[in-house]
Amino acid sequence: MIPPRAFVHAPLPQRVVFGAGSLGQVAAELDAMGARRVLVLSTPGQRVLGEKVAAAIGERAAGLHAEARMHVPVPVAEAAAARAAELGADALLAAGGGSTIGLAKAVALSTGLPILALPTTYSGSEGTSIWGLTEGGAKTTGRDPRALPQVVVYDPSLTLDLPVGVSTVSGLNAIAHAVEVLYAPDATPVTALMAEEGIRALAAALPVLMEAPRDSGARSEALYGAWLCGTVLGQATMGLHHKLCHALGGGFDLPHAETHSVILPHAAAFNAPAAPEAMARIARALGADDAPLGLWALARRLGAPPSLAALGMRAEDLPRAVRLATASPYANPRPVTKEGVAALLARALAGDAPLADPS
Ligand code: NAD
Repeated sequence: MIPPRAFVHAPLPQRVVFGAGSLGQVAAELDAMGARRVLVLSTPGQRVLGEKVAAAIGERAAGLHAEARMHVPVPVAEAAAARAAELGADALLAAGGGSTIGLAKAVALSTGLPILALPTTYSGSEGTSIWGLTEGGAKTTGRDPRALPQVVVYDPSLTLDLPVGVSTVSGLNAIAHAVEVLYAPDATPVTALMAEEGIRALAAALPVLMEAPRDSGARSEALYGAWLCGTVLGQATMGLHHKLCHALGGGFDLPHAETHSVILPHAAAFNAPAAPEAMARIARALGADDAPLGLWALARRLGAPPSLAALGMRAEDLPRAVRLATASPYANPRPVTKEGVAALLARALAGDAPLADPS
């Protein structure tokens, strides 16, 4: 029997331009947005990229602010908003990874300025209206339409120099978005197709990048996968995996993408018994027999950090991590219990292989 379908599909309004050399189209895209005085944002490490982008948009560039930092500390957001006001900026151009795009989102929230994003990692932040701000060691996040970039220009040639180690964990971070979308309560037939294709593209491209980091085809395929994974994250509710990573990142200052890459196979194993269709899609996209073990094998093949211990977490941190990750209820295919999360985190801490049913 074919079961009847029921869903609500609500894609976010965003224009996407994709292709090597598309940096050359940014000026025309800004003109179409009506932007005349653009503040270019980057991290200090990507100042050269910021300068290149400012040169590419010519007289539309009002200034470059190369001060983005991971997790958007409030003073960093306030300084960037002040700079935008001082320059009379009418748009923001975020050139970089999730940290730079996160800064643009924070400024857009307080100023209402539109964003054009030029992503250079696979974090997928550009596809969502999710903003985050950090103050006093605590990260606050939310969704707001003002934080969604109006236009995203994906130019894979800007990712050729993304270090291999950053590329692989950033790619696994993107795959994690798609995995959670596949079992989200608001998944739709379209987000499922996009998520599966995103995982397939990244799983095919990332191993090639290990051997040939400047392979233009593999860079294009990885960024294409990241677009799909980020876009579907923007339309779906996150579950256990993202809650755990949020708790570990905020509570123990663990690095964002690396934490995702360690937790993903374990969170998938926890949810596997309650999400058979999602697991079948993930396994198919990976070309594996079993989704959690396939994710585990991919992370090992890519040389991602093997355990939370390798990221600096200690056994005595576990009880607080469990408390943080189970403090408030959230949607998840399998009920989240303290015992289940403790067993999952113990395996992730030790670097054990994921267990199909760790509780
Ligand atoms: P990142 O933006 O901090 O970049 C990592 C490092 O790589 C930085 O030093 C950066 O300057 C450098 N870099 C980036 N692109 C490069 C390139 N092409 N070549 C050389 N160096 C490059 O890291 P990230 O993983 O992209 O983003 C992490 C942040 O994004 C976190 O704060 C996370 O919370 C946030 N995030 C938000 C969402 C969302 O939907 N809001 C989604 C994913 C991640």
